[in-house]
Amino acid sequence: MRCPYCGHQDSRVLDSRPAEEGSSIRRRRECPSCGRRFTTYERVEAPALLVVKRDGRREPFDRAKVLGGLVKARGKRPIPTEVLEALAAEVEREVRNSGEPEVSSSRIGELVMERLRAVDEVAFVRFASEYRRFQDVESIVEEVARLRARKEREEQLRRQVPLLPLAEGQGNGKH
Ligand SMILES: [Zn+2]
Repeated sequence: MRCPYCGHQDSRVLDSRPAEEGSSIRRRRECPSCGRRFTTYERVEAPALLVVKRDGRREPFDRAKVLGGLVKARGKRPIPTEVLEALAAEVEREVRNSGEPEVSSSRIGELVMERLRAVDEVAFVRFASEYRRFQDVESIVEEVARLRARKEREEQLRRQVPLLPLAEGQGNGKH
């Protein structure tokens, strides 16, 4: 490592120790030319992850962008920011764990939606409509219809349960 004071090409390591909770190594160095000391940090470089957008352009994955979309979808819904941050982190982990150097923006959207649906349906629909705005308006309509149908089924089931004690092997309501 080049000395920052005199520009000498080499330096001697006096001491190495873990820093930043083990995510880096701190090295104390001494320049053999001018004798001054300085510190360097060694970190693992996060492998590059590129997002392929719909128009084919690529840009580095940015978790803050995912979070931004979630915050926008939240609106005034009572969802703590930490929940959204954890969701964005989980999506990043999943994408990185795939080991692929590239991921499509629509795949990221799907991963976000899968999770957001379980958190808050209104925010989910808002996110889905924003995300798919240019892609497929029909799918949002279907999504909403599916949600409604599911709610109705659940509602029906709740009403039925006290009235109809279910016999074994029956009771799925299908004819
Ligand atoms: Zn020096």
